[in-house]
Parts: sequence; C-alpha cells; structure tokens
Amino acid sequence: MKTKDLILIIEDDEAISRMLSLFLDQQGYKIIVAGDMKSAIRELQTQSPEIVLLDLGLPGGDGKTLIKSIRTQRSTPIIVLSARHEEKEIIASLELGADDYMTKPFSTYELLARIRSAQRRFMGLQPSSNILQCHELVMDTAQHTVAKNGEFLKLTPTEFGLLKYFMLHQNQVLTHIRLLKEVWGVGYQQEMQYLRTYINSLRKKIEHDSTRPAYILTELGVGYRFGCGDDFDSKE
Ligand code: CA
Repeated sequence: MKTKDLILIIEDDEAISRMLSLFLDQQGYKIIVAGDMKSAIRELQTQSPEIVLLDLGLPGGDGKTLIKSIRTQRSTPIIVLSARHEEKEIIASLELGADDYMTKPFSTYELLARIRSAQRRFMGLQPSSNILQCHELVMDTAQHTVAKNGEFLKLTPTEFGLLKYFMLHQNQVLTHIRLLKEVWGVGYQQEMQYLRTYINSLRKKIEHDSTRPAYILTELGVGYRFGCGDDFDSKE
C-alpha cells in the first residue's frame, strides 16, 4: 500500500490548523502542524513533506522567508494561505517560488483540489513528450503546432510562447511579472500593456467566448491562471 502523503501546515491560528488537519486527515493525508517560525524550520529540516501549506503572518517572522529557504533546497509545492488584503504579499510570495495561494476564508474542498493539482504538476515536472494537452487544445512543442478540436490554430510566435508557458503551468497562478520575464525576457517586466494585448488576442483564438474565458482566467491584481481540467470551478 502506498504510504500517506505528508502535508506540513505552517499556521499560527489554531482554529484553522485544527480544522485543516481534521479535514486533510479524512482525505487520507498525514499532517504535521507548525505554529511558529522556529518549529516550521525544525519540521522542514527533519521531515520531507510532499506539500507545504503556509500562512504568511507568523510569530517569530515572515512566512515569505520560509519560501525562500525551502526553494534553495527543494521544489516541494508550497500553497500560501493568506488574508485578502495582502495582495502585494501574495505577489511577492509567488515571485519567491510559491506555487499557489488562497485567500482566507477558503473552501476546504477547493484547497484539496489545489493540493492535488499542485501534486500532479509536481509529478509531471519533466514532461515526457512534446504533446501538451488541455481539453480540446493540443500543442505539439516540437512541431510548433496548436490544434483546437483537431483544427490547427494560427498563432504568432509570441502567442505560441505564451500559450506554451500557460500549458506547462496549468492551474498555477502566474504573476504579470513572471509571465513577462519568462515569455518576453528580462527587461520586459513592466510592460503590462504587452501582456494584456497578447492575452486578449490569445483568448480570441482559443476561448469559446473571449469575454467569458474558460482557459485564461484572470487573477485580479495578481496575474493569470490557465484553468485546465480541475475538479473545482474557477471563479471569475
Ligand atoms: Ca497568521
């Protein structure tokens, strides 16, 4: 039998960590809780969690410094749980290498879906073929083609690059800055208008209704998420 995946919950609000522990235990995970920076660092050094759920405001320090130190050693998925007013904090966390974030209060089932999605992504970090797929969209990165329902789409090289980046990071929140840096290159991080223009043109080509996108979802004030085959409804 497969051993249970270990989740490290770093959270000082006991009501939240107790609720999460109970819920995730029922879902078949093994749980460790750390309520402050010191014990979080200790658990990270002695355990190898499959997933880290991280609150940012912690006694003894800032959760963001943990993201940084985790990332210097491993690529364990990190999901930030944060209060909504910390938009800047969320962006900073994602830039430091967090995989996803959820604002409090959140639905535990949506959290579960995001945990599974982060795990799937983590397992698939090394794509074994040239084919990327999301519902009726199929990209062949070697042939440089994209088909929707079997019909080839005409994409510009930049649209192709943007879509490829999205398809490699499905269901993951990608900040504006990260997209500009990864698709356009260093030096373009401030060119929000470029990004908006290309998102619009790409949506017109891949979405059924570009005014109500189902693939390229807007994460208000933060960036975009490429929604693909997940068991939760993304809210626009
Ligand atoms: Ca807190």
